[in-house]
Amino acid sequence: MTRLYNFSAGPAILPQEVLAQAAHDLPDYQGMGASLLEMSHRGPVVVNLVEETTALLRSLLRVPDTHEVLFLQGGGRLQFSMVPMNLLGAAAEACYIINGAWSRAAAIEAAKLCHINVFSPPPGKGLPLPESILVPNDAAYLYYCQNETIHGIEFNYVPPAPECVPLVSDVSSNFLTRPIDFKKHALVFAAAQKNLAPAGMAVVIVRKDLLGLAGEDTPAMMNYSVHAKAHSEYNTPPVFCIWMANLVLKWTERQGGVPEMQKRAKERSDIVYHAIDASGGFYVNNVVPAERSRTNVVFAVKDPVLTPLFVREAQKEGLVNLKGHRLVGGLRASLYNAMPLEGAKTLANFMADFLERHG
Ligand SMILES: *Cc1c(COP(=O)(O)O)cnc(C)c1O
Repeated sequence: MTRLYNFSAGPAILPQEVLAQAAHDLPDYQGMGASLLEMSHRGPVVVNLVEETTALLRSLLRVPDTHEVLFLQGGGRLQFSMVPMNLLGAAAEACYIINGAWSRAAAIEAAKLCHINVFSPPPGKGLPLPESILVPNDAAYLYYCQNETIHGIEFNYVPPAPECVPLVSDVSSNFLTRPIDFKKHALVFAAAQKNLAPAGMAVVIVRKDLLGLAGEDTPAMMNYSVHAKAHSEYNTPPVFCIWMANLVLKWTERQGGVPEMQKRAKERSDIVYHAIDASGGFYVNNVVPAERSRTNVVFAVKDPVLTPLFVREAQKEGLVNLKGHRLVGGLRASLYNAMPLEGAKTLANFMADFLERHG
């Protein structure tokens, strides 16, 4: 089999070693004569798997004891509702930084439950000025999306909030590509299918003192504290996702952990941004350089007539899923942890070659 370089934004590329190991272990898990997928989630094998996966994540991201790690179903989007349901408490208002489609979608869900106070970037910028983020002391929390997957914009600073206001972030598309400061972040969550596992799960890392704020009428499945008490096994957990996350986390550790992932994310994205910037305007990326995402490179061929041709020719070279998101058009190369450096280099070479032929 020839393995393609898959630049999809999600569900996204997974490490080949992990897929091979999962395929090997699928029918007979660790010589037990049964598949892990057939085992009770109350039995020791699955319970240990959940525990071990939690510990791996804690160690890779240096999650302190102040925070709980949860594996929940419903993907990223369910968190758009669970965050306000669990953190509003008695507050009347929550603050949202809206700088792209994902933060907007989250704010729309929150606005169904409370008043929202919105901060936006100034014209021509992808991030608001830090000094423009004036969060009142009585806000329930300040929310931001650390990496806007569709627009290719990544925060290069931690938004300022008063100490008494929890900071919440959607880190779905740059999860495990840089450290997270848990002194500053009260809650982060990540949909699994970008950098961790197959679709269908989210990781939530939440400060323990915030558990229990949800109202009595909150459905149990939507209540963080219910899941925390049950160690992510309140109901049957997404065992396959957790298993794959376990393998991906072990792979990440073998590669050198988050520092190495951070280094590679920079290397890969530098290669593709360089191909854009060195094209004399043939390729365009409109993000302010300091705000450019290291995991989602959003660009366009200046002459949009060439876009479908670019996608087709790239596909023939084994470079797939480069079509941009329908909201912004153009092209997008998602460069998650499992993308080999060679994938970025092959794409950059193809871009230069395409420019040579069509520029
Ligand atoms: C993909 C993505 C989501 C949505 O995840 P689903 O699992 O499809 O709900 C949320 N936020 C960001 C930043 C994403 O990239």
